[in-house]
Amino acid sequence: MLKLDFHPAGRHYLQIPGPSPVPDRILRAISYPTIDHRGPEFGALGLKVLEGIKTIFKTRHPVIIYPASGTGAWEAALTNTLSPGDKVLMYETGHFATLWDKMARNLGLQPEFLGLPGIEGWRRGVNAQMIQARLEADSGHEIKAVCVVHNETSTGVTSNIAAVRQAIDAARHPALLMVDTISSLASADYRHDEWGVDVTISGSQKGLMLPPGISFNALSPKAIEASRQSKLPKAFFGWAEILEMNKTGYWPYTPNTNLLYGLSEAIDMILAEGLDNVFARHQRLGEAARRAVRAWGLEIQCVDPEVYSPVLTGVMMPPGVDADMVRRVTYERFDISLGAGLGKLRGLMFRIGHLGDCNDLTLMAALSGCEMGLKIAGVKLEGSGVAAALDYLAGQTVPALAKG
Ligand code: PLP
Repeated sequence: MLKLDFHPAGRHYLQIPGPSPVPDRILRAISYPTIDHRGPEFGALGLKVLEGIKTIFKTRHPVIIYPASGTGAWEAALTNTLSPGDKVLMYETGHFATLWDKMARNLGLQPEFLGLPGIEGWRRGVNAQMIQARLEADSGHEIKAVCVVHNETSTGVTSNIAAVRQAIDAARHPALLMVDTISSLASADYRHDEWGVDVTISGSQKGLMLPPGISFNALSPKAIEASRQSKLPKAFFGWAEILEMNKTGYWPYTPNTNLLYGLSEAIDMILAEGLDNVFARHQRLGEAARRAVRAWGLEIQCVDPEVYSPVLTGVMMPPGVDADMVRRVTYERFDISLGAGLGKLRGLMFRIGHLGDCNDLTLMAALSGCEMGLKIAGVKLEGSGVAAALDYLAGQTVPALAKG
Protein backbone atom coordinates (compact mmCIF):
# COMPACT_ATOMS: atom_id res chain seq x y z
CA MET A 1 0.00 0.00 0.00
CA LEU A 2 1.21 3.53 -0.76
CA LYS A 3 2.56 5.09 2.44
CA LEU A 4 1.86 8.79 1.99
CA ASP A 5 3.49 9.78 5.27
CA PHE A 6 6.82 8.19 4.35
CA HIS A 7 9.37 10.53 2.76
CA PRO A 8 12.51 8.85 1.46
CA ALA A 9 15.50 11.22 1.69
CA GLY A 10 16.39 13.07 -1.51
CA ARG A 11 14.44 13.28 -4.72
CA HIS A 12 12.85 10.40 -6.51
CA TYR A 13 14.62 9.73 -9.84
CA LEU A 14 11.90 9.68 -12.46
CA GLN A 15 13.94 8.22 -15.32
CA ILE A 16 11.09 6.84 -17.40
CA PRO A 17 10.68 8.31 -20.91
CA GLY A 18 7.83 10.48 -19.75
CA PRO A 19 6.22 11.81 -17.77
CA SER A 20 9.56 13.50 -17.13
CA PRO A 21 10.46 15.46 -13.98
CA VAL A 22 8.75 18.85 -13.75
CA PRO A 23 11.21 21.66 -12.86
CA ASP A 24 10.40 23.74 -9.75
CA ARG A 25 10.03 26.86 -11.89
CA ILE A 26 7.21 25.22 -13.83
CA LEU A 27 5.59 23.79 -10.69
CA ARG A 28 5.55 27.29 -9.20
CA ALA A 29 3.99 28.74 -12.36
CA ILE A 30 1.28 26.07 -12.26
CA SER A 31 0.46 27.03 -8.67
CA TYR A 32 -0.65 30.58 -9.60
CA PRO A 33 -4.33 31.15 -8.81
CA THR A 34 -6.74 29.94 -11.47
CA ILE A 35 -8.29 32.89 -13.33
CA ASP A 36 -11.49 33.50 -15.29
CA HIS A 37 -11.02 31.69 -18.59
CA ARG A 38 -13.24 34.28 -20.29
CA GLY A 39 -11.53 37.30 -18.69
CA PRO A 40 -8.97 39.69 -20.25
CA GLU A 41 -5.87 38.25 -18.52
CA PHE A 42 -6.66 34.80 -19.86
CA GLY A 43 -6.82 36.05 -23.46
CA ALA A 44 -3.29 37.41 -23.13
CA LEU A 45 -2.04 34.08 -21.74
CA GLY A 46 -3.86 32.17 -24.49
CA LEU A 47 -2.34 34.28 -27.27
CA LYS A 48 1.12 33.97 -25.72
CA VAL A 49 1.12 30.17 -25.56
CA LEU A 50 -0.58 29.72 -28.94
CA GLU A 51 2.11 31.86 -30.58
CA GLY A 52 5.04 30.55 -28.51
CA ILE A 53 4.31 26.88 -29.13
CA LYS A 54 4.61 27.45 -32.90
CA THR A 55 8.33 28.16 -32.41
CA ILE A 56 8.77 24.77 -30.73
CA PHE A 57 7.01 22.92 -33.58
CA LYS A 58 8.86 25.14 -36.12
CA THR A 59 5.66 26.16 -37.84
CA ARG A 60 3.94 29.36 -38.97
CA HIS A 61 0.55 27.63 -38.99
CA PRO A 62 -1.94 27.12 -36.14
CA VAL A 63 -1.28 24.70 -33.28
CA ILE A 64 -4.29 23.40 -31.36
CA ILE A 65 -3.89 22.81 -27.61
CA TYR A 66 -6.23 20.25 -26.03
CA PRO A 67 -6.89 19.58 -22.35
CA ALA A 68 -6.29 15.87 -23.03
CA SER A 69 -3.44 13.37 -22.96
CA GLY A 70 -1.56 12.51 -26.15
CA THR A 71 -4.07 9.80 -27.01
CA GLY A 72 -6.73 12.49 -27.39
CA ALA A 73 -4.52 14.37 -29.84
CA TRP A 74 -4.02 11.15 -31.87
CA GLU A 75 -7.80 10.83 -32.11
CA ALA A 76 -8.19 14.51 -33.00
CA ALA A 77 -5.69 14.19 -35.88
CA LEU A 78 -7.57 11.24 -37.40
CA THR A 79 -11.16 12.40 -36.86
CA ASN A 80 -10.57 15.94 -38.12
CA THR A 81 -9.08 14.92 -41.44
CA LEU A 82 -10.52 11.54 -42.46
CA SER A 83 -13.85 9.88 -43.31
CA PRO A 84 -15.31 6.46 -42.39
CA GLY A 85 -13.63 3.62 -44.31
CA ASP A 86 -10.64 5.72 -45.44
CA LYS A 87 -7.42 3.77 -45.95
CA VAL A 88 -4.44 4.94 -43.94
CA LEU A 89 -0.87 3.69 -44.10
CA MET A 90 0.70 3.22 -40.67
CA TYR A 91 4.16 1.89 -39.84
CA GLU A 92 4.98 -0.53 -37.04
CA THR A 93 7.93 0.91 -35.12
CA GLY A 94 6.79 -0.35 -31.71
CA HIS A 95 4.09 -0.34 -29.08
CA PHE A 96 2.85 3.22 -29.61
CA ALA A 97 2.57 2.79 -33.38
CA THR A 98 0.55 -0.36 -32.62
CA LEU A 99 -1.83 1.53 -30.31
CA TRP A 100 -2.37 4.26 -32.90
CA ASP A 101 -3.15 1.58 -35.52
CA LYS A 102 -5.68 0.02 -33.13
CA MET A 103 -7.30 3.40 -32.57
CA ALA A 104 -7.63 3.96 -36.34
CA ARG A 105 -9.42 0.60 -36.62
CA ASN A 106 -11.72 1.49 -33.70
CA LEU A 107 -12.63 4.76 -35.40
CA GLY A 108 -13.82 2.95 -38.53
CA LEU A 109 -10.77 3.61 -40.70
CA GLN A 110 -8.93 0.91 -42.66
CA PRO A 111 -5.32 1.09 -41.53
CA GLU A 112 -2.68 -0.94 -43.31
CA PHE A 113 0.16 -1.66 -40.90
CA LEU A 114 3.50 -1.83 -42.73
CA GLY A 115 6.57 -3.17 -40.99
CA LEU A 116 9.03 -6.00 -40.49
CA PRO A 117 8.17 -9.35 -38.86
CA GLY A 118 8.52 -10.05 -35.12
CA ILE A 119 10.50 -7.47 -33.20
CA GLU A 120 12.77 -6.64 -36.18
CA GLY A 121 10.79 -3.49 -36.96
CA TRP A 122 10.93 -2.58 -33.26
CA ARG A 123 14.72 -2.23 -33.50
CA ARG A 124 14.85 0.11 -36.49
CA GLY A 125 13.23 3.29 -37.80
CA VAL A 126 10.56 3.70 -40.45
CA ASN A 127 11.63 2.25 -43.81
CA ALA A 128 10.79 5.09 -46.21
CA GLN A 129 11.34 2.89 -49.29
CA MET A 130 8.57 0.55 -48.14
CA ILE A 131 6.24 3.53 -47.78
CA GLN A 132 7.20 4.82 -51.23
CA ALA A 133 6.64 1.41 -52.85
CA ARG A 134 3.23 1.04 -51.21
CA LEU A 135 2.14 4.51 -52.28
CA GLU A 136 3.36 3.94 -55.86
CA ALA A 137 1.19 0.81 -55.99
CA ASP A 138 -1.82 2.88 -54.87
CA SER A 139 -2.49 4.42 -58.28
CA GLY A 140 -6.11 5.23 -57.37
CA HIS A 141 -4.94 7.30 -54.37
CA GLU A 142 -7.17 5.39 -51.97
CA ILE A 143 -4.69 5.89 -49.13
CA LYS A 144 -5.60 9.18 -47.50
CA ALA A 145 -2.90 9.48 -44.85
CA VAL A 146 0.51 8.17 -43.85
CA CYS A 147 0.95 7.97 -40.05
CA VAL A 148 4.32 7.52 -38.37
CA VAL A 149 5.75 7.87 -34.88
CA HIS A 150 8.82 10.14 -34.80
CA ASN A 151 10.29 8.90 -31.52
CA GLU A 152 9.06 5.40 -30.63
CA THR A 153 9.03 5.65 -26.84
CA SER A 154 8.74 1.88 -26.42
CA THR A 155 12.07 1.19 -28.12
CA GLY A 156 14.31 4.26 -28.32
CA VAL A 157 14.26 4.74 -32.09
CA THR A 158 13.81 8.14 -33.78
CA SER A 159 12.66 7.81 -37.39
CA ASN A 160 13.71 10.07 -40.26
CA ILE A 161 10.63 12.17 -41.04
CA ALA A 162 12.26 14.13 -43.89
CA ALA A 163 12.83 10.76 -45.64
CA VAL A 164 9.14 9.85 -45.23
CA ARG A 165 8.17 13.20 -46.76
CA GLN A 166 10.54 12.54 -49.68
CA ALA A 167 9.03 9.07 -50.14
CA ILE A 168 5.51 10.52 -50.40
CA ASP A 169 6.69 13.18 -52.85
CA ALA A 170 8.69 10.68 -54.92
CA ALA A 171 5.55 8.54 -55.25
CA ARG A 172 3.64 11.72 -56.28
CA HIS A 173 0.97 10.75 -53.79
CA PRO A 174 -1.48 13.24 -52.21
CA ALA A 175 -1.80 11.45 -48.82
CA LEU A 176 -1.58 13.57 -45.71
CA LEU A 177 1.47 13.05 -43.50
CA MET A 178 0.72 12.70 -39.77
CA VAL A 179 3.54 12.42 -37.25
CA ASP A 180 3.44 11.55 -33.54
CA THR A 181 6.07 13.62 -31.71
CA ILE A 182 4.64 12.92 -28.25
CA SER A 183 8.03 11.92 -26.89
CA SER A 184 10.30 13.92 -29.20
CA LEU A 185 9.01 17.48 -29.25
CA ALA A 186 11.49 19.85 -27.56
CA SER A 187 14.02 17.01 -27.19
CA ALA A 188 14.84 15.88 -30.75
CA ASP A 189 15.16 18.15 -33.78
CA TYR A 190 11.74 18.50 -35.38
CA ARG A 191 10.52 20.76 -38.22
CA HIS A 192 6.79 20.72 -38.94
CA ASP A 193 6.83 23.16 -41.88
CA GLU A 194 10.17 22.27 -43.44
CA TRP A 195 9.39 18.54 -43.43
CA GLY A 196 5.95 19.12 -44.93
CA VAL A 197 4.03 17.48 -42.10
CA ASP A 198 0.25 17.96 -42.21
CA VAL A 199 -0.62 17.10 -38.61
CA THR A 200 1.95 16.83 -35.84
CA ILE A 201 0.66 15.29 -32.63
CA SER A 202 2.37 15.95 -29.33
CA GLY A 203 1.96 15.96 -25.56
CA SER A 204 3.01 17.98 -22.53
CA GLN A 205 4.63 15.42 -20.24
CA LYS A 206 7.93 14.70 -21.98
CA GLY A 207 10.27 17.24 -23.62
CA LEU A 208 8.07 20.15 -22.56
CA MET A 209 8.67 19.19 -18.90
CA LEU A 210 5.01 19.66 -17.90
CA PRO A 211 2.75 17.26 -16.05
CA PRO A 212 0.49 15.12 -18.25
CA GLY A 213 -2.75 16.79 -19.30
CA ILE A 214 -2.35 18.87 -22.43
CA SER A 215 -1.65 17.77 -25.98
CA PHE A 216 -1.29 19.31 -29.41
CA ASN A 217 -2.18 19.15 -33.09
CA ALA A 218 0.08 21.33 -35.27
CA LEU A 219 -1.66 21.83 -38.61
CA SER A 220 -0.80 22.55 -42.24
CA PRO A 221 -3.06 24.48 -44.64
CA LYS A 222 -3.66 21.13 -46.43
CA ALA A 223 -4.81 19.53 -43.15
CA ILE A 224 -7.18 22.43 -42.47
CA GLU A 225 -8.57 22.04 -46.00
CA ALA A 226 -9.02 18.27 -45.44
CA SER A 227 -10.89 18.96 -42.19
CA ARG A 228 -13.59 20.79 -44.19
CA GLN A 229 -14.33 17.60 -46.17
CA SER A 230 -13.79 15.02 -43.41
CA LYS A 231 -16.82 13.01 -42.29
CA LEU A 232 -15.66 11.13 -39.16
CA PRO A 233 -17.67 12.38 -36.15
CA LYS A 234 -15.93 14.98 -34.01
CA ALA A 235 -17.26 17.28 -31.33
CA PHE A 236 -14.94 18.14 -28.43
CA PHE A 237 -11.91 17.66 -30.69
CA GLY A 238 -13.29 19.55 -33.73
CA TRP A 239 -10.73 22.04 -35.06
CA ALA A 240 -13.05 24.61 -36.67
CA GLU A 241 -14.58 26.08 -33.51
CA ILE A 242 -11.31 25.95 -31.58
CA LEU A 243 -9.41 27.74 -34.37
CA GLU A 244 -12.04 30.47 -34.44
CA MET A 245 -11.96 31.07 -30.67
CA ASN A 246 -8.14 30.79 -30.51
CA LYS A 247 -7.88 33.91 -32.71
CA THR A 248 -8.50 35.97 -29.57
CA GLY A 249 -6.75 33.62 -27.14
CA TYR A 250 -9.80 31.70 -25.89
CA TRP A 251 -11.26 28.18 -26.17
CA PRO A 252 -14.85 26.97 -26.73
CA TYR A 253 -14.70 25.10 -23.38
CA THR A 254 -12.84 25.51 -20.09
CA PRO A 255 -9.15 25.09 -20.95
CA ASN A 256 -6.51 23.77 -18.58
CA THR A 257 -5.60 27.21 -17.19
CA ASN A 258 -2.90 26.14 -14.75
CA LEU A 259 -1.15 23.86 -17.22
CA LEU A 260 -1.14 26.78 -19.66
CA TYR A 261 0.76 28.86 -17.06
CA GLY A 262 3.21 25.97 -16.97
CA LEU A 263 3.37 25.83 -20.78
CA SER A 264 4.13 29.54 -20.95
CA GLU A 265 7.00 29.03 -18.49
CA ALA A 266 8.27 25.94 -20.34
CA ILE A 267 8.37 27.78 -23.66
CA ASP A 268 10.34 30.63 -22.04
CA MET A 269 12.81 28.16 -20.51
CA ILE A 270 13.33 26.20 -23.73
CA LEU A 271 13.80 29.31 -25.86
CA ALA A 272 16.19 30.83 -23.30
CA GLU A 273 18.37 27.70 -23.50
CA GLY A 274 17.94 27.72 -27.28
CA LEU A 275 16.31 24.89 -29.20
CA ASP A 276 19.61 23.82 -30.75
CA ASN A 277 21.26 23.65 -27.32
CA VAL A 278 18.32 21.62 -26.03
CA PHE A 279 18.73 19.14 -28.90
CA ALA A 280 22.53 18.98 -28.43
CA ARG A 281 22.07 18.29 -24.69
CA HIS A 282 19.72 15.40 -25.46
CA GLN A 283 22.14 14.00 -28.07
CA ARG A 284 24.98 14.16 -25.55
CA LEU A 285 22.95 12.41 -22.86
CA GLY A 286 21.85 9.72 -25.32
CA GLU A 287 25.43 9.05 -26.39
CA ALA A 288 26.59 8.82 -22.75
CA ALA A 289 23.79 6.36 -21.92
CA ARG A 290 24.62 4.17 -24.92
CA ARG A 291 28.33 4.11 -23.98
CA ALA A 292 27.29 2.93 -20.53
CA VAL A 293 25.16 0.12 -21.95
CA ARG A 294 27.98 -1.06 -24.23
CA ALA A 295 30.49 -0.98 -21.37
CA TRP A 296 28.15 -3.13 -19.28
CA GLY A 297 28.28 -5.62 -22.16
CA LEU A 298 24.53 -5.33 -22.76
CA GLU A 299 22.69 -4.72 -26.01
CA ILE A 300 20.98 -1.49 -27.05
CA GLN A 301 17.44 -2.13 -28.31
CA CYS A 302 17.92 0.11 -31.38
CA VAL A 303 20.28 -1.61 -33.84
CA ASP A 304 20.68 1.27 -36.31
CA PRO A 305 23.05 4.03 -35.10
CA GLU A 306 21.47 6.45 -37.63
CA VAL A 307 18.25 6.45 -35.63
CA TYR A 308 19.37 6.20 -32.00
CA SER A 309 16.95 8.17 -29.83
CA PRO A 310 18.26 11.18 -27.92
CA VAL A 311 15.25 10.81 -25.57
CA LEU A 312 15.64 7.33 -24.13
CA THR A 313 17.81 4.24 -24.35
CA GLY A 314 16.35 0.73 -24.43
CA VAL A 315 18.56 -1.80 -22.62
CA MET A 316 18.12 -5.47 -23.61
CA MET A 317 18.56 -8.07 -20.88
CA PRO A 318 20.73 -11.17 -21.32
CA PRO A 319 18.67 -14.34 -21.98
CA GLY A 320 16.85 -15.53 -18.86
CA VAL A 321 16.98 -12.20 -16.99
CA ASP A 322 13.60 -10.61 -16.28
CA ALA A 323 13.93 -6.86 -16.92
CA ASP A 324 11.01 -6.15 -14.59
CA MET A 325 12.84 -7.88 -11.75
CA VAL A 326 15.86 -5.61 -12.39
CA ARG A 327 13.60 -2.54 -12.44
CA ARG A 328 11.92 -3.60 -9.20
CA VAL A 329 15.20 -4.21 -7.38
CA THR A 330 16.58 -0.87 -8.58
CA TYR A 331 13.43 0.99 -7.60
CA GLU A 332 13.23 -0.53 -4.13
CA ARG A 333 16.90 0.04 -3.35
CA PHE A 334 17.58 3.41 -5.03
CA ASP A 335 14.17 5.09 -5.46
CA ILE A 336 14.57 5.36 -9.24
CA SER A 337 11.83 4.60 -11.78
CA LEU A 338 12.97 3.03 -15.05
CA GLY A 339 10.67 2.37 -18.01
CA ALA A 340 9.28 -1.14 -18.50
CA GLY A 341 9.44 -3.10 -21.75
CA LEU A 342 6.07 -2.69 -23.49
CA GLY A 343 4.04 -5.00 -25.72
CA LYS A 344 6.30 -7.48 -27.54
CA LEU A 345 9.26 -6.37 -25.38
CA ARG A 346 7.64 -6.93 -22.00
CA GLY A 347 10.22 -8.30 -19.55
CA LEU A 348 12.95 -8.31 -22.21
CA MET A 349 14.28 -4.79 -21.75
CA PHE A 350 14.11 -1.69 -19.60
CA ARG A 351 14.21 1.92 -20.75
CA ILE A 352 16.30 4.77 -19.36
CA GLY A 353 14.68 8.15 -19.99
CA HIS A 354 17.07 11.10 -20.43
CA LEU A 355 14.71 13.81 -21.57
CA GLY A 356 13.36 17.15 -20.51
CA ASP A 357 14.83 18.60 -17.32
CA CYS A 358 17.82 16.26 -17.36
CA ASN A 359 21.50 17.22 -17.20
CA ASP A 360 24.82 15.37 -17.11
CA LEU A 361 24.67 14.73 -13.35
CA THR A 362 21.03 13.63 -13.44
CA LEU A 363 21.99 11.06 -16.06
CA MET A 364 25.06 9.96 -14.08
CA ALA A 365 22.88 9.36 -11.02
CA ALA A 366 20.47 7.34 -13.13
CA LEU A 367 23.26 5.27 -14.69
CA SER A 368 24.76 4.68 -11.21
CA GLY A 369 21.36 3.43 -10.05
CA CYS A 370 21.13 1.13 -13.07
CA GLU A 371 24.65 -0.23 -12.63
CA MET A 372 24.17 -0.96 -8.93
CA GLY A 373 20.68 -2.35 -9.56
CA LEU A 374 21.96 -4.68 -12.31
CA LYS A 375 24.69 -5.95 -9.96
CA ILE A 376 22.25 -6.51 -7.10
CA ALA A 377 19.92 -8.33 -9.51
CA GLY A 378 22.80 -10.68 -10.34
CA VAL A 379 23.33 -9.57 -13.96
CA LYS A 380 26.92 -10.21 -15.01
CA LEU A 381 28.45 -6.97 -16.32
CA GLU A 382 31.60 -6.75 -18.47
CA GLY A 383 32.69 -3.39 -17.09
CA SER A 384 31.59 -0.09 -15.64
CA GLY A 385 29.07 1.82 -17.75
CA VAL A 386 29.25 4.65 -15.25
CA ALA A 387 33.00 5.08 -15.90
CA ALA A 388 32.45 5.00 -19.67
CA ALA A 389 29.72 7.65 -19.49
CA LEU A 390 31.81 9.84 -17.15
CA ASP A 391 34.77 9.75 -19.51
CA TYR A 392 32.58 10.71 -22.43
CA LEU A 393 30.75 13.54 -20.67
CA ALA A 394 33.93 15.00 -19.16
CA GLY A 395 35.37 15.26 -22.67
CA GLN A 396 32.46 17.25 -24.11
CA THR A 397 32.45 21.00 -24.67
CA VAL A 398 29.10 22.47 -23.67
CA PRO A 399 27.78 25.97 -22.94
CA ALA A 400 28.57 27.02 -19.34
CA LEU A 401 25.63 26.35 -17.03
CA ALA A 402 26.70 28.29 -13.94
CA LYS A 403 27.51 31.95 -14.49
CA GLY A 404 29.84 33.44 -11.94
N1 PLP B 1 2.60 8.15 -28.56
C1 PLP B 1 3.80 8.07 -27.96
C2 PLP B 1 5.02 8.03 -28.81
C3 PLP B 1 3.89 8.02 -26.56
O1 PLP B 1 5.09 7.95 -25.98
C4 PLP B 1 2.70 8.05 -25.80
C5 PLP B 1 2.76 7.96 -24.33
O2 PLP B 1 3.78 7.71 -23.74
C6 PLP B 1 1.47 8.13 -26.46
C7 PLP B 1 1.46 8.18 -27.84
C8 PLP B 1 0.19 8.18 -25.69
O3 PLP B 1 0.11 9.41 -25.04
P1 PLP B 1 -0.69 9.59 -23.66
O4 PLP B 1 -0.23 8.51 -22.75
O5 PLP B 1 -0.29 10.98 -23.21
O6 PLP B 1 -2.13 9.51 -23.99
